[in-house]
Amino acid sequence: MEKLLEVHDLHVAFSTYGGTIKAVRGVNFYLHKGETLAIVGESGCGKSVTSQAIMRLIPEPPGKIVRGKVMFKGKEITRYTEKQMRSIRGVEISMIFQDPMTALNPTLTIGTQLMEGLQEHQSIRGETATSKALEMMHLVGIPNPKERLKQYPHQFSGGMRQRIVIAMALICEPELLIADEPTTALDVTIQAQILELFTTIQAKTGISIILITHDLGVVAKIADRIAVMYAGKIIETGTKRDLFYNQQHPYTKGLLKSVPRLDLKEEQLSPIDGTPPDLFAPPQGCPFTARCPYAMEVCDNVYPVTTERSSSHRVDCWLQDKRAQQLLARTANQ
Ligand code: SF4
Repeated sequence: MEKLLEVHDLHVAFSTYGGTIKAVRGVNFYLHKGETLAIVGESGCGKSVTSQAIMRLIPEPPGKIVRGKVMFKGKEITRYTEKQMRSIRGVEISMIFQDPMTALNPTLTIGTQLMEGLQEHQSIRGETATSKALEMMHLVGIPNPKERLKQYPHQFSGGMRQRIVIAMALICEPELLIADEPTTALDVTIQAQILELFTTIQAKTGISIILITHDLGVVAKIADRIAVMYAGKIIETGTKRDLFYNQQHPYTKGLLKSVPRLDLKEEQLSPIDGTPPDLFAPPQGCPFTARCPYAMEVCDNVYPVTTERSSSHRVDCWLQDKRAQQLLARTANQ
């Protein structure tokens, strides 16, 4: 399978009066053409910052991509000038955000906003632009598109507004869509419809999707692969099967235990005790040490080596290391 996007050793930091926040600390992942990768984790784990760094939307200052590279279609876009980035943003890579209202201008009609991207990036105007806008509204399931094109954002429901935002993101036919918590502001029924819409659009267009979310229910529905982020690092990555049925990192296990499951009626939810580490001064060892029931001395001092359990499944945890397993066995036998 061809890789559309590769992120290598990405570090992003923010300078504040209180010091430097190391928000993303050496993130590595890839995305194949036509697949959906979900990046999951608690608030503040660095997932949104990672996606903004890919789009080069980190406000500088106070933010900065400290090191690492992002390769898109084999080209290192971290080296692109702002002008070069503008030529691919919205055209080859699009992004949608959590709250559709912030992405829509309340003073312009939906039609004007939909066609804006076509005019700006592809110089498409007039009837061609209108018919493309209608086609997109049809694709995202907005009824009566001809009439709706003339209406304003406040005349649409939350779910319909999110559909319009998706249509705006797709109108220039990008190859990569980054969706940052796209269903969080929506109620559960609409959420399901929007997720279904992503699946339909992907089947029709072959677009690759990065889905940023804290919601494992969303992930279970549409992701092919999952990357779990914690304290600015990806601590486990694998296919949906790897992560839901054979998860290895104690944090991933904790995340899954804290989600309600309809098939386990008697099971009690177990929240993960404690809080993530302070990213002003992140620990040099495993960032989960303070919350981990299996923490060993080595965890505190040295960041775990990445263990490849299979070609798809990687885990950053000392428990995966044979030396730690031998140590644990010896301790148990004493
Ligand atoms: Fe727990 Fe240590 Fe594994 Fe971190 S490396 S998750 S502290 S066992």
